Amino acid sequence: MIPVRDDLRALEGYHSPQVDVRVRLNTNESPLAPPTAWRDALAAEMSRVEWHRYPDRQAIGLRQAIADFHGVSADMVFAANGSNEVLQTILLTYAGAGRSVATFEPTYQMHAQIARVVGSTVVAGERDADFSIDPAEMQRVVESARPHVTFLTSPNNPTGLVEPAERIEQLLQLSSGLVVADEAYAQFANWSALSMLDEQRPLVITRTFSKTWSMAGVRLGYVIGPTWFIGELDKVVLPYHLDTAKQIAGRLALRFVDEMDDRVRLIVAERERLSAALSEMPIDVTPSGANFVLFRPRVVSGRALWQGLLDRSVLVRDCSGWPRLADCLRVTIGTPDENEAFLTAVADVLAEQGDHHEP
Ligand SMILES: *Cc1c(COP(=O)(O)O)cnc(C)c1O
Repeated sequence: MIPVRDDLRALEGYHSPQVDVRVRLNTNESPLAPPTAWRDALAAEMSRVEWHRYPDRQAIGLRQAIADFHGVSADMVFAANGSNEVLQTILLTYAGAGRSVATFEPTYQMHAQIARVVGSTVVAGERDADFSIDPAEMQRVVESARPHVTFLTSPNNPTGLVEPAERIEQLLQLSSGLVVADEAYAQFANWSALSMLDEQRPLVITRTFSKTWSMAGVRLGYVIGPTWFIGELDKVVLPYHLDTAKQIAGRLALRFVDEMDDRVRLIVAERERLSAALSEMPIDVTPSGANFVLFRPRVVSGRALWQGLLDRSVLVRDCSGWPRLADCLRVTIGTPDENEAFLTAVADVLAEQGDHHEP
């Protein structure tokens, strides 16, 4: 074995176990497949592709479709292999060695992970006990670290909290660096920072097809931002990084906005139902604007509940060992049947294990 780069030695990598279970509610995917008409249109276009040719390097058709969907111009859009590659390209361009990146923990682990991989220093701000960001903490982090890139995730993963507009506004006032609003779950929330975009300020917004669009298997995400920003990303990313199949899949998906909206409405309704049902049990529930809910049992440990659910073939995300998230679990909203199975299993585990805690 030969040693890796010194600064990578302490890295742990990204863990999200893929276990074979009956009810899988651990990775925030859509529980529903994309529309059949999308599959058919995709198959038809795929049969006509000239596979011996490189893809459209600028992904013009896809960018234009995304731009039309959001009512912006195509030169404000950059797409990549999942929003994770978007985030990586942003950090390669604006962070990297000798530069710092700020996050507010707990939040999406990949922000800090990718920042470290590209050689940046990560500065972690702390959220309050209710997972909101105190303006004073934001000021402390930005003024002490002068980050080149600051992440705000809204709705935040894994907490589900939606950032208020004034928090983003405040960050833009305080910081001279790039502000990345990661909106992987924005369609499930009642608010998006899209209306705050402006050619004159360093705010960019990332989105993904993985959650709302039922297309996690495609690996497609994008960022919307000022044209000067998009132009820099185009210089850094590998040529032909977006394959032809993906460009077609994304462009066609945007013809099925109504179907996507229906799925979002169903999931939001189920989220409210599931949150209310959990709140009736001895469980603390964090209000969520996303397609998942973070919760903490009061009478058993988070780990015990997670294992009890797994024993009943229900898999949720175990956050109980993560810093700042003791005893917390995160459940992705599934189909009504899956959510029912989850709720029944939770009640069952609590009835069984909670008993041991009675005096
Ligand atoms: C799931 C997730 C992503 C990653 O999305 P991909 O497009 O699948 O890479 C990005 N940000 C947040 C906050 C997420 O939860």
